[in-house]
Amino acid sequence: MYLPHLRVPVPTPFYSSETERPFERCLLCDRRVLDTGEIYLVEKAIRQLPNLGARDTILEYAMCLSCYEALSETYSEASRRNVEAFFSQHMDMLERLQWLDAPGPLDLGRWLDRCAITGDPVQGLTEYQLMGACIGEELLVMHLPCLISSTAMEAVEVCLSQKTRDEIGGFIDDHFGIPPELKSLFRDRTLPIF
Ligand SMILES: [Zn+2]
Repeated sequence: MYLPHLRVPVPTPFYSSETERPFERCLLCDRRVLDTGEIYLVEKAIRQLPNLGARDTILEYAMCLSCYEALSETYSEASRRNVEAFFSQHMDMLERLQWLDAPGPLDLGRWLDRCAITGDPVQGLTEYQLMGACIGEELLVMHLPCLISSTAMEAVEVCLSQKTRDEIGGFIDDHFGIPPELKSLFRDRTLPIF
């Protein structure tokens, strides 16, 4: 399926917080994603203290499309259908295409200044996730990138079967050394969605 899109250099919110550069490797297969020409996804989970302006990356990764598709296959059919239905009901895809089509320079802030589901402005959020799709050193701008608040992720969770929740929990345990006190914040809430 062809989706209308534009490309921009990967913006800093999608950089690895460790290297302060675009991600170079897939979390799962460790292949380089920067030079292969294959689409890869970037997800970051952020916690912030709005009043202090302090922000911390809790979890981040890049994943090549092949690994993403293989991982998605492990989720139950019902979970995948429910999540897709949730996003098509609650995320205004048409509005995003209109932004893409707007005259003048692309304003990427529109995609990232509020929760794509609840509309809550990013400034007031204590936890949120960023998701984007990239090729090489460019970010694809279409319905993604998006910002999803933890409130919206809780609503997504309801769409998931217990089996899928357990699988996501296992995925996080296997790949991220998240301290136990933070795990409750993000357990079950992280799902590569698109
Ligand atoms: Zn991979």
